[in-house]
Amino acid sequence: MAEPAYKRIMLKLSGEAIVGENGQVINFDVVGKICDQIIQVVQMGIEVGIVIGAGNIWRGRQGSNMDRTTADYMGMLATGINALALQDAMEQRGVPTRVLSAIEMRAVAEPYIRRRAVRHLEKGRVVIFACGTGNPFFSTDTTAALRAAEIDAEAILLAKNVDGVYDSDPKVNPNAKRFSQIDYIDVLNRGLTVMDTTAITLCMDNKIPIVVFGLNEENSIRRAVMGEEFGTRVGA
Ligand code: UDP
Repeated sequence: MAEPAYKRIMLKLSGEAIVGENGQVINFDVVGKICDQIIQVVQMGIEVGIVIGAGNIWRGRQGSNMDRTTADYMGMLATGINALALQDAMEQRGVPTRVLSAIEMRAVAEPYIRRRAVRHLEKGRVVIFACGTGNPFFSTDTTAALRAAEIDAEAILLAKNVDGVYDSDPKVNPNAKRFSQIDYIDVLNRGLTVMDTTAITLCMDNKIPIVVFGLNEENSIRRAVMGEEFGTRVGA
């Protein structure tokens, strides 16, 4: 049987990935389907870390004249809500899961301690990293890159609502071309909106490949873990 391409991965989910079609902030049918996909790879013995965003609840200043740092803290706290929703769905399916938070909230999550995160992963627990980096002016993409580097994840799996990285927006340009592979530096030079530039730079400096794929495709997380050629691989 084919061997998985990675033993330890970091899965990045955007907050919008769990919004329902009827505009619900969190749709548990959608969350459940994502969890079922994650469980496929947990059962293969893959160690899984997850960073989830908060675009479904709150993102930065949202066009208001709020103080940027306060608005960003709201965004980070909102990721905690999504993290708990994901944890609940995972545990309802019998998968032990820990939420580790960059902002201390001991009643609901463990504080983020790198060694503890690694220990949980080694024991087969899914680790959900909540509250971003704990710092304003960053994003959850950057959080995924930072935590991936810290826990020695072999790849970031970037689950999107499009099936890879294109040279232009495929929703606008029907002739848009999907890259099967692209270098970090080309993503930066072409200004492609894969991840924000801080996150891409961090991945480039630490040689962490990013596998971009459509979350809606069947078995997409397992296929990415198996190293199947689909979506786009961002790397050197
Ligand atoms: N955020 C932050 N620092 C971090 C991570 C997140 O300030 O380290 C805030 C920021 O305001 C961001 C919001 O949390 O807009 C939600 O995260 P993000 O926009 O990355 O969520 P996604 O787009 O992935 O759903």
